[in-house]
Amino acid sequence: MSHSPILIVHGGAWAIPEDMLEAHEQGVFDALQVGYSLLERGGSAVDAVEAAVAQMEDDATFDAGRGSFLTRDGRVQLDALLMDGATLRAGGVACVERLRNPIHAARLVLDKSPHIYFVGAGAEEFAHAHGMQLIDNSELVLDRERMRLAEAQKKERAGLPDLTFAGDDKSPETAADIDSHDTVGAVALDSEGRLAAGTSTGGTLNKAPGRVGDSSLIGCGCYADNSSAAVSLTGWGEPIMKLVLGKWATDRVQQGQSPEQVAPEAIAYLHKRLGGHGGMILLGPDGRYGVAHNTPRMAWGVCTSEGPRTGLKIP
Ligand code: ASP
Repeated sequence: MSHSPILIVHGGAWAIPEDMLEAHEQGVFDALQVGYSLLERGGSAVDAVEAAVAQMEDDATFDAGRGSFLTRDGRVQLDALLMDGATLRAGGVACVERLRNPIHAARLVLDKSPHIYFVGAGAEEFAHAHGMQLIDNSELVLDRERMRLAEAQKKERAGLPDLTFAGDDKSPETAADIDSHDTVGAVALDSEGRLAAGTSTGGTLNKAPGRVGDSSLIGCGCYADNSSAAVSLTGWGEPIMKLVLGKWATDRVQQGQSPEQVAPEAIAYLHKRLGGHGGMILLGPDGRYGVAHNTPRMAWGVCTSEGPRTGLKIP
């Protein structure tokens, strides 16, 4: 049976300021275009998700790839996961510093390794052995981010409220307003009815080197299974990890609830249980989908046979 393909992408959930809305909307559109053109030509959901996420990694607007938030010691450390809902094959990398597109490394792990997850130097070596170029970390670092880190650390030293949320002991009430979460992700349904999901991030600002958040962990920030749903999350990683929130949501779709209903329930549960904040895109095998966030804004968009539309309201 031939299905009508769908691609949904997100580029983070936070209080995206007015002067950054256009860049986020454009970034979402570009990712939809790149990914959906593959789906239209009969490409697989995995290919479309990988391409859409790579496009957003290359866009310095987002906290993924070049332009990501910096670790406490001023480096970019990236995490990504790609999962194929048709086979349950998955590929993940974390704490990589020398790869421009960690989602491509995740694809290589998915396709070429008996393992599922590589970290640090081992992940870089694996990617390099399969043809990916290793770059200098400084190529991923923007002056904008050096300034942002300096500002956060200045506030930290002065004992002012923390903007970084690199841990989980901060005040959730203020987090949604001041913290920024620009992680990217995508979920897709292809013409053969296969689901896939991908998430890629630079993590949280001022994070300790070696910290891994929810984004690249299976079932936390990303999951795909044709018998349930495909999901990608963004937000404050530690609470999302504790609740294994991606799998929480796809399990409910498998049990018969609709993605439209489950996505807001999942985000409400995240807040009620742990004071967490963030956003989710959730796509079922029948093409129904849900999008939810408890932050002032989330950059997201969807593309169907009727064309692309972004969910970011520009006033
Ligand atoms: N969830 C990511 C993390 O905690 C951050 C984000 O979504 O922006 O690493």
